[in-house]
Amino acid sequence: MKTKNCVICNIRKGKRFCVKEDNFICSKCCGIVRDPQLCPNDCPYLFSVTEKKKAGEWPLYRVLMTTPKGSRSIVVAREKENGKLQFISVLVDEWKMGLKDCLGEHDISKKEFDKLVAMQPDYADANLNECKEIIKRGILIAETLGLRIPRDFREFKYILGDLDNVEVTGSLYKCFECGKGDLPDDIVEQIKEVTLHDVAAGVCGTEDETMLYFVCDKCKGEEEGEEGVA
Ligand SMILES: [Zn+2]
Ligand SMILES: [Zn+2]
Ligand SMILES: [Zn+2]
Repeated sequence: MKTKNCVICNIRKGKRFCVKEDNFICSKCCGIVRDPQLCPNDCPYLFSVTEKKKAGEWPLYRVLMTTPKGSRSIVVAREKENGKLQFISVLVDEWKMGLKDCLGEHDISKKEFDKLVAMQPDYADANLNECKEIIKRGILIAETLGLRIPRDFREFKYILGDLDNVEVTGSLYKCFECGKGDLPDDIVEQIKEVTLHDVAAGVCGTEDETMLYFVCDKCKGEEEGEEGVA
C-alpha cells in the first residue's frame, strides 16, 4: 500500500494518524496543528520536547519507592491541568543490572492510579532527588554493562523532570548495606562479571541468580564491632 500525502499540506507523506483530522498527516503539519487543548490526551504525538519539559514541572502527586534494598521500584506521578495524572514507574536493580524495566501512562485517573500502587505493599513515600539518583545510577550501570535501556524509559522519563544535573559519584555499585559507601574496584569488577554471567544465563531476577552481598569498609567495621560486643 502506498502512503498517501498529508491531508493538510498535500506535499509530504502522511505518516501520522491524527485523531483530530481523522486522517493521515505529516510530522511537520502535526507540529503546527498540535494543540494540548484540542488533541486527545492519549495522542502519542502530543508531547513535543518543550511540552515534555513543561510536563516535568507539573505538581507532584506521589513519589514512591519500595523499601527493600537491592531491587527498587520507583513511581513518580504528576498532576496535569485536567486533574488526571501522568506517571512513570521504573525498576532499578541496584546490585546487578541497574535500570531494567519501565512503564508509564500519559493519562490516568487518580482512582485508577491509587488502585495500581495499592497492589505493591512495599511502596513508601520517597524523596524525588533520591529517586533520581538511584535511577541515574541505574542508567550508568546498565550502560556500563552494555545492557539495553528499556524503550519506554525514553518515552516517560520526562515525567521525572531534569536528570542532567543529577550527580552520580564514587564507585559504580554502592555498599549493599548502607547504599552510600563506595565499594573497591575489584569488587565492582566481580559484580559486573557475575551480572553479565547471570544475564547471559537468563537467570537475573529468578531464584537461580547468583547471590551477592558486599558492604563498604564502614559497615564492615560496624558489623565486626557488634560481633565483638556479643
Ligand atoms: Zn503536511
Ligand atoms: Zn494528534
Ligand atoms: Zn555501607
